Amino acid sequence: MSESILPLSAATPATTPVPMIDLVEQYESIADDVRQAVDHVFSTQHFVMGDEVAEFEREVAHYCDSRDAIGCASGSDALLLSLMALNIGPGDEVITSPYTFFATASSITRTGATPVFVDIDPSTFNLDPVGVEAALSPRTRAIMPVHLFGRCADMEPLWRMAVRHNLAIVEDAAQAIGATFDGRHAGVLGTLGCFSFFPTKNLGGAGDGGMITSDDADLTTRLRRLRVHGDAGRYQHVEVGINSRLDALQAAVLRVKLRHLTTWTQQRQENAARYEHLVEEHGLSDYIDLPSADPGCNHVYNQYVVRVREGRRDELIDGLRARQVGCAIYYPQPLHLQDCFASLRYQEGDFPEAERASAETIALPIYPELGAARQELVVRAMCETLGVGMAHRGRTFSLPQSNKRAA
Ligand SMILES: *Cc1c(COP(=O)(O)O)cnc(C)c1O
Repeated sequence: MSESILPLSAATPATTPVPMIDLVEQYESIADDVRQAVDHVFSTQHFVMGDEVAEFEREVAHYCDSRDAIGCASGSDALLLSLMALNIGPGDEVITSPYTFFATASSITRTGATPVFVDIDPSTFNLDPVGVEAALSPRTRAIMPVHLFGRCADMEPLWRMAVRHNLAIVEDAAQAIGATFDGRHAGVLGTLGCFSFFPTKNLGGAGDGGMITSDDADLTTRLRRLRVHGDAGRYQHVEVGINSRLDALQAAVLRVKLRHLTTWTQQRQENAARYEHLVEEHGLSDYIDLPSADPGCNHVYNQYVVRVREGRRDELIDGLRARQVGCAIYYPQPLHLQDCFASLRYQEGDFPEAERASAETIALPIYPELGAARQELVVRAMCETLGVGMAHRGRTFSLPQSNKRAA
């Protein structure tokens, strides 16, 4: 713990916190359109699927360059339905990352198949393809790469393995709508792509929602059936599916927001570039490592996760919290060490990079409306906590009067 945290300067009023994410500011900018869209759904009283959902599916398919898109109740269900459509079940193995949100691995367990974890590449936080190759077994049926934080996994070697060993690839693109790899969109980089519209995702609804992208007509048909209890029409249940539909209200809200997604993504990228500049300017580069982006790949920064050197992560978190600067840990415990997966018999030390990432990283605010003034506060708070001398010491860091994003 650091005892001598520098006091807040007069130009940094403690009454102006920097939230980790502020959904209100974004809502206010589109409130009229959202209310109108919601009113329309109420006037039709058509709440489950229907035209609104069908239109939104077409729009997402277009956005991601996929042939089809199939709405469902959540990103978690998108993963589960995808594995069901691929007939993955007991006795099968699916290779995935231990450093991700829980639903990635639990979807595999839910089908009766076994998740096989492979360590991450420390520079990208995504599945290490060399480890995937080593983990292949005669039971491997699919690879589930996660495009973590909005950056696509290294897909090229995974494609080669998938072709050579006849494996499916299910992309967990829950954090990556709009991201690209070699110019191709997340969602069309594998056999099926899974998206989440949880409110804090880059395209977030007014509750839960999810989507699967598919270029395969047979899989599309299967998915459309599986989400309605395997009903092929007129209560003819050709298989046992689940109830996982997208609500028309969610689709209506999401259609309004999709029109702004490209702009919001650009703002996130501008914020990321500004952090790079500020961290350099204030001499923080020796203390934290920033996320990198590959040329030719579009990083959409659903989270902005930095690595804190020298074991000072928790100290930095305390300092940011004391200064009312929002931050978060994604994810504090890798999945191979979760109690519910004890039967898989992994132990501490099995995936050192995932474990190190859990102990060393912190997510900083990156939401589109964040803007320059608040980012200065974030970086200032980091400097004060870590005791880093700031350039331009005499300079006044002024805050905008309103909550509006600084130009
Ligand atoms: C959010 C998320 C999910 C699950 O999506 P829900 O809509 O919350 O069910 C799955 N995987 C990853 C990586 C996620 O970030």
